[in-house]
Amino acid sequence: MVIIVGTGAGGGILARELAKNGIDVTIFEKGPYIESKDAFDCYDVYNKQVDLLTTTCIGGSTIVSMSNMVRALDEELLDYGIDLSEAYEYVEDLVGVHDLDDSHIGKGTQLFLDAGRELGLKTMKMPKAIREEDCIQCGKCAFGCPVNAKWSGKDFVDEAVEAGATLICDAEVISVSIKDMEAHGVNYVKDGERKVLLDDLVILAAGAIGSTLILRQTGINAGTRIFFDPFVTVGGYLKDINFNTEVQMAGLVVGKNFVLSPHFSSFIRQNIVYDDVEDKDILSIMVKTADECQGQVYNDGSVFKDNTIEDIRYLAEGVATAGMILEKAGVDPTTIGSTVYRGAHPGGTAPIGKIVDSNLETDIDNLFVCDASVLPISPGKPPILTILALAKRLADYIINNK
Ligand SMILES: Cc1cc2nc3c(=O)[nH]c(=O)nc-3n(C[C@H](O)[C@H](O)[C@H](O)COP(=O)(O)OP(=O)(O)OC[C@H]3O[C@@H](n4cnc5c(N)ncnc54)[C@H](O)[C@@H]3O)c2cc1C
Repeated sequence: MVIIVGTGAGGGILARELAKNGIDVTIFEKGPYIESKDAFDCYDVYNKQVDLLTTTCIGGSTIVSMSNMVRALDEELLDYGIDLSEAYEYVEDLVGVHDLDDSHIGKGTQLFLDAGRELGLKTMKMPKAIREEDCIQCGKCAFGCPVNAKWSGKDFVDEAVEAGATLICDAEVISVSIKDMEAHGVNYVKDGERKVLLDDLVILAAGAIGSTLILRQTGINAGTRIFFDPFVTVGGYLKDINFNTEVQMAGLVVGKNFVLSPHFSSFIRQNIVYDDVEDKDILSIMVKTADECQGQVYNDGSVFKDNTIEDIRYLAEGVATAGMILEKAGVDPTTIGSTVYRGAHPGGTAPIGKIVDSNLETDIDNLFVCDASVLPISPGKPPILTILALAKRLADYIINNK
């Protein structure tokens, strides 16, 4: 009865909730079914204009995520009549959100937490969905966990399949089939052949760019705007800190216009001002901000992103604060450098109030969108928990009303 396109933050939980409630579900995934340790090979390649991080595989970008789980946009969504408080409680319990045990807070992270507190900044541990009993503290979350110690959308897809859902991987959905302004299936390509699957209700959860492309092919003009929560990683020399092998992003500083989190990037070493510096001698911090929805997705899937004056100001404020923390933590300030500007949270391409209503339904009956596309503004912080809560709310709506 229901077709779900995509298996990431939005698609995984929808499949689980609907299948476990006895609904007939078919899930389409463009990428392969892989083990989490192999996710690094599934990163997407974009045009040179943006440095955007997403993956195409089972679990979508959740499989390379740091499993940071924070509530976002609560107030803003209330303006659209969306109260996620109950859904948040449900999903936090389901994925096991908690502060990491001290045994998994490394030396560099502890220096970050101590320095943030000493400087009077709003400093805390990052809520995570990581199973400490399995985690080997290798610092490789963004490569795909080698020991499957963190939650990803794949976990939910596996549960959905156990509950009877059909999973079709390596199948790219191209468009939604429409009859009398109502969705009644999808057109897709599998093994080089174009095929059609007819069904009553279609949910696009193909991510901000994937869902945009399908909506456009279906006649809905999505993707004329996009945010991506820009970030840089700034760091410097601190001998033998070994931060690169710690659990990443296990601390959090919340500023007015930015968030900071201890984060090692394999691109930082070349920018540290110290001869022959090694990865083990670097302490670094991710600076992330909310950005304005300026930019667009092109029909070939490439993305253009504009930076506004405010975007640049927020990033500069965050970088200045990160520099203070690094110095307080013992980093030699003359060695501090930064990666280029990147984004890993694309969203806002089919926003609530414009392309979908507050039930996440488009103008076409029974065609829903449920992924980062629908977020009305940039959260400037990890969006997975918000997408999970929106998807849980949509699953309940479908179970009770369709
Ligand atoms: C390195 C990294 C670390 C991150 N860490 C965190 C974190 O710690 N916490 C957090 O909250 N966020 C994190 N994020 C961001 C988070 O992963 C994304 O914001 C979130 O996964 C977006 O969910 P989504 O459902 O919109 O898309 P996705 O999770 O990307 O899922 C989209 C799915 O649709 C599939 N698809 C695309 N097109 C098609 C098509 N045509 N047909 C069929 N299937 C299709 C894709 O393969 C994918 O499986 C991170 C991102 C990256 C890259």
